[in-house]
Amino acid sequence: MLTTFDHSRDSAGLTYIYPVISRRSGGLSIGINLNPNNACNWRCIYCQVPDLQRGSAPTTDLGLLETELRGFLDQVLTGDFYNRFSVPLEQQSIRDIALSGNGEPTSSKEFDQVIGLIGSVVADYDLLGKIKLVLITNGSLIRREPVQKGLAHWAELGGEVWFKLDSATETGGLHVNGIHHTPETVLHNLESAARLCPTWLQTCLFAFDGQPPSDEECNDYLALLQHIQQQGIDLSGVLLYGLARPSLQAEAPRLSPLSEEWMQAFAAKIRATGLTTRLSL
Ligand code: SF4
Repeated sequence: MLTTFDHSRDSAGLTYIYPVISRRSGGLSIGINLNPNNACNWRCIYCQVPDLQRGSAPTTDLGLLETELRGFLDQVLTGDFYNRFSVPLEQQSIRDIALSGNGEPTSSKEFDQVIGLIGSVVADYDLLGKIKLVLITNGSLIRREPVQKGLAHWAELGGEVWFKLDSATETGGLHVNGIHHTPETVLHNLESAARLCPTWLQTCLFAFDGQPPSDEECNDYLALLQHIQQQGIDLSGVLLYGLARPSLQAEAPRLSPLSEEWMQAFAAKIRATGLTTRLSL
């Protein structure tokens, strides 16, 4: 049975498509994993990808992706998917299609073609405008031309971008995401994303060795949010996440969830910058 906790990428036995029944969204999320090789250009210490390795998505087999997406939609809309997986009646609806998987989806060289393919399949099944379309990305490859083209098309389809920003400092980026990035690079990538497509920031916070993020980390993050707004970068808001599921990286034993009080207080500080903020614990 699929549960709200079953986020396994191979629960449907497919290469690219994985269903998630989410209590949070109240229905079925259809995940598209363009990184079946478990490769990402980042290495986040809270990452839930097993056997994560550095790298890019392999060549996307567009024919197979289309066959799987159409086949899966057939199973859900006219087949026995919900019965087979004992999905409760109140959760028997498609909430979204999420481009998110075991690595960075925009690292697929076929990214813009993938967006085109999702657009035509969703239109064929008369789902355009009826379900959410979400791209979950670390935002680091947005300068690439196929990614920009894909994002512009994603916006035309009514899609949105969830852009990862866990730390505003270079030290934090190295520690949490395993990458060297400067606030300038983040701003540049974020500006590109937000110009092309409605964009939310997605931030995951947790305690490390029992300690919450330092005051300096928190202040720099809030200052960056203010700077983003002063620069006229139009964000939809901030999605603030706690450590909902265990990391599958070596640092896992050193990570723990922050208290609800801590998360609520930090969410309030983000709201005080003027940004819509949604907290998920
Ligand atoms: S960007 Fe996402 S997939 Fe890549 S390492 Fe971080 S959490 Fe994992």
